[in-house]
Amino acid sequence: MPNSPVAPASVREVVESGLCIGCGLCEALAPERWVMRMTDQGRLRPAPVSDEGPDADASILAACPGAVAEAVPRGEKNDDVWGSYTHMGEAWAGDPDIRFRAATGGVLTALGVHLLRAGKAAFILHCAADPERPMRSRWTISETPGQVVARAGSRYGPSDTLAGLEAALARNAPFAIIAKPCDAGAVRARAKADPRLDRLLVAVLVMVCGGASDLGKSLAVLEALGVDEDEVTLFRYRGHGNPGPTRIETRDGRVFEKTYAEMWADEAGWRIQSRCKLCPDAIGDAADIAAADIWPDANPTGEDDGFNGIITRTPEGQALMQAAVAAGDLVLGEDHGPRDYDHFQPHQLRKKQAMAARLRGLAAAGRPVYRHAGLRLDLLDSCDAEEEAGACKRAKQGRFDEEVPRK
Ligand SMILES: Cc1cc2nc3c(=O)[nH]c(=O)nc-3n(C[C@H](O)[C@H](O)[C@H](O)COP(=O)(O)OP(=O)(O)OC[C@H]3O[C@@H](n4cnc5c(N)ncnc54)[C@H](O)[C@@H]3O)c2cc1C
Ligand code: SF4
Ligand code: SF4
Repeated sequence: MPNSPVAPASVREVVESGLCIGCGLCEALAPERWVMRMTDQGRLRPAPVSDEGPDADASILAACPGAVAEAVPRGEKNDDVWGSYTHMGEAWAGDPDIRFRAATGGVLTALGVHLLRAGKAAFILHCAADPERPMRSRWTISETPGQVVARAGSRYGPSDTLAGLEAALARNAPFAIIAKPCDAGAVRARAKADPRLDRLLVAVLVMVCGGASDLGKSLAVLEALGVDEDEVTLFRYRGHGNPGPTRIETRDGRVFEKTYAEMWADEAGWRIQSRCKLCPDAIGDAADIAAADIWPDANPTGEDDGFNGIITRTPEGQALMQAAVAAGDLVLGEDHGPRDYDHFQPHQLRKKQAMAARLRGLAAAGRPVYRHAGLRLDLLDSCDAEEEAGACKRAKQGRFDEEVPRK
């Protein structure tokens, strides 16, 4: 790999250096040593329940997104920025109800539903609102189309979908995962050590991802409304329209809505986690299919019926998209190309170009850096000295530092 001089040597080091995204894989692989906990910073992180150690945790570090990020190109075309793909274009769910409820046009939900209906998957591993505390998310297994649809929508906070990976594999039945791009990379890396994944995992579906806020973003919304978290019965971040409102309901019948613009106007309040600011793989290079928003300059121009961008990245992803279209579960609109995505996702383009410099800045500060391959960071390197110096300064100031939570 091009830059492996200071890869993190332990799960603790991943967390302490701000490289953990809280995917939950360590709890799945070693529940006797790690359990996911919400930290005081509002981030899901692994807490040790027994002895830690690089030797014991070698299998975790081989797939942890804080230690390794890689993708293997398997599409028919290649773009330096947007990676390997076979098809890029507009798409939405064939079922108008899914299209309405979902975050954008319901592509991810429609594909999950298609896999279940066609008998290609027995269940979907993904995440959903915690029924006890609906502002928070937790991993879940959906066995019916109705469950997948009920759990549609983007969750803008911590999510540990991969904490359910071993439970999924233990079912010994074909399944799909809907998750974040960093989760997809972890699953692919894990497949090198666990042959059950090649046998049972039929599709890895992701959203293109601008970053996961910590819980403080949602708590700030409640605080501004004068609502306590234990009063909340619904916290829907978007959907029921595209983008749809953020909607909060309480036990005593109060209802609050904020528009997408109101929710995200103040970028300083997004509280994006550190791994996201250092993310090399937010566009789903490691997935079979990535779904995105396709607003000009990443800003919704108003409410619409819901139009996703869809990027197929593997032969399996391309075949799944075609089968879903043939079954009427998915509808395709106009084709796109990579330069359309530069326009839809300018923040992703800037991030890809800045990442090599940010990682150099971390290394210069003596901080560990994940190993990466197949993500074109060196090819796209902007060689931006300010980015590098800024990352180095922030690292030295301790801005990426985190504490490992207690059990
Ligand atoms: C944190 C976050 C940041 C995003 N940033 C961007 C961006 O920069 N650019 C862009 O184009 N799109 C972004 N999106 C994606 C966008 O909001 C839609 O999710 C995407 O267009 C898919 O729409 P859909 O209608 O197909 O999804 P749906 O059909 O509603 O399905 C969403 C699926 O994703 C799963 N899911 C939801 N939230 C999470 C989560 N936090 N972690 C893991 N799984 C989850 C759900 O379980 C569900 O199965 C982001 C989404 C999230 C959650
Ligand atoms: S990124 Fe995932 S695997 Fe790595 S330490 Fe965090 S929770 Fe564990
Ligand atoms: S920005 Fe990257 S690290 Fe953050 S949640 Fe999205 S894919 Fe994961």
